[in-house]
Amino acid sequence: MRSDGSKPKVVIVNSPHPDWDYERRELSELAELRVARCLSYEELLSEAGDADIIMVGDIAHIPLTGEILKKLAKLKLISVYGVGVDAIDLKTAAELGIIVANAPEYGVEDVADHTLALLLSLLRRVPMLDRELRRVGWRDLRSDIEVIRKRFGALRRISSLTIGLIGFGRIGRTVARRLRPFGCSILGYDPYVPDEMFKELSVERVDLQELLSRSDVISIHVILTEETYHLLDEKAFKLMKDGVLIVNTSRGAVIDERALINALRSGKVLGAALDVFEKEPLPADSPLLKMQNVILTPHIGWYSEEAMAEQKRETVLNVKAFLLGEKPPYAVNVS
Ligand code: NAD
Repeated sequence: MRSDGSKPKVVIVNSPHPDWDYERRELSELAELRVARCLSYEELLSEAGDADIIMVGDIAHIPLTGEILKKLAKLKLISVYGVGVDAIDLKTAAELGIIVANAPEYGVEDVADHTLALLLSLLRRVPMLDRELRRVGWRDLRSDIEVIRKRFGALRRISSLTIGLIGFGRIGRTVARRLRPFGCSILGYDPYVPDEMFKELSVERVDLQELLSRSDVISIHVILTEETYHLLDEKAFKLMKDGVLIVNTSRGAVIDERALINALRSGKVLGAALDVFEKEPLPADSPLLKMQNVILTPHIGWYSEEAMAEQKRETVLNVKAFLLGEKPPYAVNVS
């Protein structure tokens, strides 16, 4: 309740969901609820300038910088429909007493499944073979393994490979669990998790340099921070094996996309499967769109109907707890 007796204002900004029935059911007794679609800061300030709480979906085009947070004068809580909070200036939010909370668990299985789907598609060249079969027909494609080798590179058996996971949090560990039955060797790099987590999943803990130089496939699962920005840059690609495969379902900017494109062109990287990009939406003139050795999906790893429902539940849980005077269960900038 606000000091003037009115209900707190909650604005749902750019929700990824087609409806807000659940939010209404759970929150309308406690707060005044409104939905808004904001493409610019002007729209954000006009729609949510008086909000106590905002629930945010896609804000990549309107990141919540310190400057904009200061203008949202009544704001006390930002509850994110998702895991990544990299579009929010967390430090300024904390200074202003604004709690930032996310939905960390909703899509773990789904992103892990998507990672496996990308990884297996890349290893077995499924989209490439599908395209080529339709283009040249069965006979031309099947009759000459040399053609396949030349066009797509030699296919390798997964159990003979070493797969390196960068980032061993929720999704990284779930990917490791799913990879185990394939019989490949798994390396993991994450300076912030204890040894036991690696041991539990029979993953060999290594430093970044060793992971880069030993892996046949590298899959990225770190959060995007100043430290992980362009973690895979030109120098890192040089350390990798020739013909390495790259999978990224984390955040685009963890890879220097220009360096990746160069490495794909030179053949240093044989193929890449990407769900996330430095710039989203992926620009229509991105060279990646023309590259035959790349698999692209539109930042959709998180999606399943089950994940959508869980995402709503976690995002609403943060708001409901706050409105009831409790600490949001998934707060990320307060202990
Ligand atoms: P998490 O917080 O559970 O795990 C992230 C891990 O990264 C942590 O264990 C942390 O210690 C590690 N890390 C941080 N800095 C590091 C560094 N410098 N070097 C190595 N490791 C470092 O997060 P999660 O839920 O596993 O999410 C992983 C990634 O997936 C995030 O980038 C998230 O934004 C992304 N994600 C993508 C989708 C999608 O739709 N593609 C959906 C959800 C999450």
